[in-house]
Amino acid sequence: MSKILIIEDETAIADLERDYLELSGFEVQIENSGDGGLARALQEEFDLLILDLMLPGLDGFEICRKIREKKNLPIIMVSAKKDDIDKIRGLGLGADDYMTKPFSPSELVARVKAHLARYERLVNSNVQENDIVEIRGIKIDKTARRVWIDGEEKNFTTKEFDLLTFLAQNPNHVFTKEDLFKEIWDMESIGDIATVTVHIKKIREKIEKQSSKPQYIETIWGVGYRFRM
Ligand code: CA
Repeated sequence: MSKILIIEDETAIADLERDYLELSGFEVQIENSGDGGLARALQEEFDLLILDLMLPGLDGFEICRKIREKKNLPIIMVSAKKDDIDKIRGLGLGADDYMTKPFSPSELVARVKAHLARYERLVNSNVQENDIVEIRGIKIDKTARRVWIDGEEKNFTTKEFDLLTFLAQNPNHVFTKEDLFKEIWDMESIGDIATVTVHIKKIREKIEKQSSKPQYIETIWGVGYRFRM
């Protein structure tokens, strides 16, 4: 349920707004002073703020500016004077919407819904999905660096993980041990291509049902390795 804070000093207006919003399924809190409203908005988590302009103590301009420094939520500013709306716009306070009193409560509800939906879309579009490689029973989460074999998570060292991921991302491609060493270990690394053989063996122990009959990483005799699609 979305939580809305109304900062409004006229009790009758605040109550009317709350009643309509509650009827639409929102949870609503009211603060009647500027200072109290600002403190509440900063301390608690709200999904949207309805902010009156003329308030005892801090006014709506100041509150909007201070909240914008710290929080990202839709702010609808309301004022009794049409001139104030132009001022709000001119100041670039970061309010999302402006309404002149008196307005119809159902118009307010409609705008609240529209702004909440827009913010939700915005937040969702910013969620980055993890980069996943999935081949048959193997699932590699490149972002979290985790691996599951037939749904069971297995632990891999850094180089084992890098080697497995590289092969799985290039299936049906034969790589020589030299190719793999160059790709996974930088040239200054201590070690040689025998390191690749050792790592392939360890990876197979974790991913193959039978290491002697590998289903994933095949040995191409005299050449190198290939990840079977
Ligand atoms: Ca007022």
